[in-house]
This record gives sequence, C-alpha cells and structure tokens, in this order.
Amino acid sequence: MKNPIIIWRGGVAAALALGLALSLTGCAIGSPDPSPTDTVSQSASASSSLEPSSSGSGEAVEGRLDYDDQADWQFISGQMQSPIDIVSADAQPMAEGGGAIQLDYATDPTAMENNGHSIEVADSGSAIIDGRSFTLTQFHFHAASEHTIDGQHYPMEAHFVHKAADGRIAVLAVFFELGEANPGFREVLDEIMPMQYDSTIPHDPPAFTDLMTMIPTDLSYYHYLGSLTTPPLTENVEWYVMKTPVQVSADQVTDFAQLYSHNNRDTQPVDGRVVLDHQA
Ligand SMILES: [Zn+2]
Repeated sequence: MKNPIIIWRGGVAAALALGLALSLTGCAIGSPDPSPTDTVSQSASASSSLEPSSSGSGEAVEGRLDYDDQADWQFISGQMQSPIDIVSADAQPMAEGGGAIQLDYATDPTAMENNGHSIEVADSGSAIIDGRSFTLTQFHFHAASEHTIDGQHYPMEAHFVHKAADGRIAVLAVFFELGEANPGFREVLDEIMPMQYDSTIPHDPPAFTDLMTMIPTDLSYYHYLGSLTTPPLTENVEWYVMKTPVQVSADQVTDFAQLYSHNNRDTQPVDGRVVLDHQA
C-alpha cells in the first residue's frame, strides 16, 4: 500500500468516505457496478461500492506502468474498456434539458504526487452531473491524449476523477491542444517538476489561482460508459469527454514529457456502445 499522502482539509465524513480512494494510484479508482447502461439517467440508477485497488487486493500497480507492453496489463473485466476513439458523426444527441454539468472545484489541492505514471493532484470540490452529486477526488494527465476524436489524438488529456457517495465514478476528460501556455497546468508543473520521480513523499502544494483554466468554459461533451484506463481497468465508469479543448504551450508539453513521454493507453473497441453528444 502506498503511503497515504493525502492531507484532507475537507469534512471528516468526506475524508472517511474517500480516504481509501484518494490513496490509490492509477487513472481512477473504485469498483463500479458491472451492469452496463447507456445513458446518464440510466447509469444514475446503478450502484457500486468502495473497494480499494491497492496492494491489499493484489490489483494495484505500483510505480511505472509499462505503456509499451499494454497487452500484459491485468484484465478483470470485458467489453467496456477505455479509452475509445469517438466518431463524432456516430454520436447520438442527448435529450435536451438533461446532462448538465456544474463544477465547483476547490482551489487548494490537498496533495500532489509524481506517482510513477502521471502527475496526480488530490483535490476536493464538487460536481453536479445530470442532477447527481459527485466529489472531485483527484486529477492527472496523459500524453498523448487517451481518447481520440475521429482518429485524432491531442497532445495531452487531463482526467478529473469524481466519485459519488455510492462509489460510482465519473471522469471528466479535457483535451489540451497546442497554443497559449496554460496557467493552471503551469502551477502543477512548477510544483511537480522539482520532485523526485516516483516520489511518495507528501507534498502539500499552495493553492491554485488558475485551476479552472484547465476546464473549458463550454461544457459540451461526449458521454459513454467505459473503464479505468490503468489496471485494474474496472468497468462501468462514466466518461464525460469535453468537446472543447483548452490550450497548452509546446514548452509545457515538453516539460511534461520529461516526466512521462508516453502514458496513454491504446484506444479500445467500442463494441456497440452508444456515445451520447451533449450540447451545453
Ligand atoms: Zn487517466
């Protein structure tokens, strides 16, 4: 089990509920209900439970994942894997009036970690997704992007990982395109660059001033049900892939690549899953 590096400034109840989840490595965490659903409203009815994927379960991946040997990653589930290539012309419009996302992220991250396969920032705050409450647990970054749109990668993709009280996981994915430097990502890099690779030393960073520059103002998205993109690759994770990218400079991508030159999982078969298109 990794050192519990999280210093939780939020409520005690939340800390108890999320303490396990926050100490995990990986793209996201938990053990969602295996029953597949296709829409936001349907998925809201599914349930799940907190389950640590740390070394206690034998499923954790400590340290660096080998992204050049993904075929050897441990699989515990089947046909609803992430990431995927999103074919924009095949996405089905979501019913009007549903699916809205409201974000209220905390600007004071509770911990930051170079976990061996990404920069991971523990943060709190809330998200209302289609009328359901989630808590932000952490966010991290992949280069190149994990999802593709019509076969095209972006240079980077951020994953904001949320968890509901019932354990359900929702990940908000944001593409980074080349352009202006991203102030929020600069804050992350400035804190993480001096840290040792594979550092498990607690690092209590200063408050963000530009966190929301890593989130597009237009919260239109593609939605589908998939999985964690790192072992244990658990399924029935709700994905909300933002259609509008934010900008990142080439220098920032280069800085990130000094830490992780390739930490994106290959796209997985869609296998008949429906991708919904939500217009904010
Ligand atoms: Zn991820």
